[in-house]
Amino acid sequence: MSPAHSTSSRQGTATEPLVQVRNLSKHYQLGSFPFRSTVRAVNDISFDINRGEIVALVGESGSGKSTIARILARLEQPTAGKLILDGQDIFATERRRASMTYRSKVQMVFQDPFGSLNPAHRIEHFLTRPLQLHGEKDSPRALKLKLRELMATVGLGEQMLDRYPHQLSGGQRQRVAIARALAVEPEIILADEPTSMLDVSVRIGILNLMRKLRDERGVSMLYITHDLASARYIADTTMVMCAGDLVEGGESIELMAAPHHPYTQLLLSAVPDARRTQTVRPPRRDATARNAPRGTGERITLSASHWALKVPESAH
Ligand code: ADP
Ligand code: MG
Repeated sequence: MSPAHSTSSRQGTATEPLVQVRNLSKHYQLGSFPFRSTVRAVNDISFDINRGEIVALVGESGSGKSTIARILARLEQPTAGKLILDGQDIFATERRRASMTYRSKVQMVFQDPFGSLNPAHRIEHFLTRPLQLHGEKDSPRALKLKLRELMATVGLGEQMLDRYPHQLSGGQRQRVAIARALAVEPEIILADEPTSMLDVSVRIGILNLMRKLRDERGVSMLYITHDLASARYIADTTMVMCAGDLVEGGESIELMAAPHHPYTQLLLSAVPDARRTQTVRPPRRDATARNAPRGTGERITLSASHWALKVPESAH
């Protein structure tokens, strides 16, 4: 499942997955006694992300995708589960807040590039800070060179450094957000719906940029989207989430050519495909994944090399 390109610039243990998520759950308690309720945002999910791999996490709104990204970015604590990054059991060994080392390995790109860039600062500011915080002390000249390189990497001209966020287009702002993430030379970028607020015409440019960063720098990506077509376009592996459960996953092209799970079939039936002459009939409502995995008690564990159906103890 690993992409063919070399990731030799990365650290030693090349065969071990970069990220290993095990039995991760996040439950939110709402209200107070006696009107307390629990939102099961993420239910006991496990998966790996290899070095240099692009993994897409797809699912409808509210299925738990952003919760997973926030936990991986360490913006939230999980209710249960393990996160192993670069062989280190993060929740067991790190402080409650992410260390600088963790932040330099894991970076996040959000849906709304305007919201994540303070309008009071010029573009240069957003890139200089992470370069200074995570790098060695550079001379002003060396810093300028790094800024120029960073801008070129994301396809922006040097002259943009002097502009304010409002002077850029949505696509350019998202490129700045990606450049800011790249400034610390992360091992993985968590991109939460990075193109969904952009015009259709510029989305493809951002997807191509993400793929280029993977190909040229070996950066892994967790690409979160509700758009299966874009997942098929850039992701090596796709995982499908429904109501907090991981219901299906595998190599993107294979999964979308022959989806097994009714929920994946339903999502795919909504993707326009010029080659498809026959409309795919959505599965019957009582067969949708929202019911199916719960009813059968089946959950899925995605590993780098295989898929295993995990049958809970109670089913034996
Ligand atoms: P997605 O990104 O797939 O749209 P989210 O991860 O944002 O889904 O949300 C999953 C579920 O968790 C939703 O039902 C959402 O309402 C709930 N949720 C997310 N954050 C919180 C929170 N801080 N408090 C309570 N419920 C939350
Ligand atoms: Mg979300």
